[in-house]
Amino acid sequence: MAIQRTFSIIKPDATKRNLTGKIAAKFEEAGLRIVASKRIQLTLAQAQAFYGVHAERPFFGELCEFMISEPIVVQVLEGEDAIAKNREVMGATNPADAADGTIRKEFALSIGENSVHGSDAPETAAEEIAFFFSGLELVG
Ligand code: GDP
Repeated sequence: MAIQRTFSIIKPDATKRNLTGKIAAKFEEAGLRIVASKRIQLTLAQAQAFYGVHAERPFFGELCEFMISEPIVVQVLEGEDAIAKNREVMGATNPADAADGTIRKEFALSIGENSVHGSDAPETAAEEIAFFFSGLELVG
């Protein structure tokens, strides 16, 4: 498997509880390299655009309000099979279903406030990286 890049968000529930470093350590321990990182505050319009694929879901409003409730940390992670590896380290969407040792098992509060986002496929990874980072911010 080739070296890939994926997009990650440390969500408001985690930044609020000062867990940015602990979550970043989980990525690094799994062999993922943080090649870009910044702390930002999303606007409602940006949250709605980013999660547009979920616009028809009943939790869309709640999800967008949550994502703007505190700053987030957006990151690009790089490594062997990075997209799948990151999803593995994150754990299942609902922390009640997440495997031991995963970020969501250890840190998530609920299915909504679940500490991290990670891209689910190469196409979405490329789109999501481009949504938040310019070429100048992405060193090789
Ligand atoms: P992911 O790829 O594991 O993040 O999961 P999804 O793509 O299915 O959902 C995107 C995000 O929407 C999740 O990470 C949660 O933050 C949120 N979400 C998903 N299902 C629910 C739900 O039933 N209720 C609420 N409040 N949020 C949800």
